[in-house]
Amino acid sequence: MELTYQPFELQLKHTFTIAKFSRTSTPVMLLQIAHEGYIGYGEASMVPYMGETYESANEFLSKVDAKQFKYPFDFEAIIYYLDSLAPGNPAIKAGIDIALHDLDGKLKQQPCWQLLGSKPELMPVTSFTIGIDTLDIMRQKVLEAADYKIIKVKLGRDNDKELIQAIRSVTNVPLYVDANQGWTDLEKSLDLTWWLLEQGVVLIEQPMLKTDIDSNAWLTERSPLPIIADEAVQRFADVEKALDVYHGINIKLMKSAGMYEATKMLKKARELNMKVMIGCMTETSCAALAGAALAPQCDWADLDGPFLTSNNPFKLPEFVDGKWVLGNGSGLGLELL
Ligand code: MG
Repeated sequence: MELTYQPFELQLKHTFTIAKFSRTSTPVMLLQIAHEGYIGYGEASMVPYMGETYESANEFLSKVDAKQFKYPFDFEAIIYYLDSLAPGNPAIKAGIDIALHDLDGKLKQQPCWQLLGSKPELMPVTSFTIGIDTLDIMRQKVLEAADYKIIKVKLGRDNDKELIQAIRSVTNVPLYVDANQGWTDLEKSLDLTWWLLEQGVVLIEQPMLKTDIDSNAWLTERSPLPIIADEAVQRFADVEKALDVYHGINIKLMKSAGMYEATKMLKKARELNMKVMIGCMTETSCAALAGAALAPQCDWADLDGPFLTSNNPFKLPEFVDGKWVLGNGSGLGLELL
């Protein structure tokens, strides 16, 4: 097997601001793994707050010996091998894992979603994220987002109610709220959850600092809305730790080191009776389709990455009634432009 890769600066349509950071592009590594005339495509989206860079990705990839990838693939052995090369680096590991899943589907002439046991008719609606901005621009962004059936709002600053009211003045669609660890006061947060319930909010992501287990657990016990772990849960080993601290987890391929471990996390969460959201970073169609392949097994999908970017190098997959459409193409079903 032959592994090749290129850095790709993925441009954002709008400057993206969450509780603690702001940026205009995302460094991405695009990967290809070739075998017997087929090419599997993968993507590592390295959002700055996760700590991976072109430099760390190049360093990791220089250690990877693609001859270790033998078909039929043993994905458990592959992730074990990748973890043995260096700890951390979940996005670049995900890039390799996604390319191998795409290749696996192509070699088997089957879509990845089918190999993973997903039912396309159960595809949940994908939410569309509105970044923090002035109230006027946020209202404008919501009006431009009329194709999406659920809006996700980044909260965690001092004007959370004002932001929600601004959005509610222009849309009635259900809302997801992501505080990105920005809430600090317990009683105020609990009052806010009840207020958000009245505003048609469906769930709340990562209210408090990921390290503050007691506060997140306190809020989860009392909140009328599901509280979902995002920053607090990255890989498989974190799922069990989220039990009794959160109602559910947000699985992202760039945190979980790819599709194989994401599938394991999903199964584990179900065993523990936890809710599951599948999320994304700012990504091209490649990683979005990898997430979409698993989305029908999740309660909620937040796979809007390709919509937030302006130079996606792949064709945008079919999107109907607020949902990604899983096609019958082999592998991820990714189409080149
Ligand atoms: Mg989040």
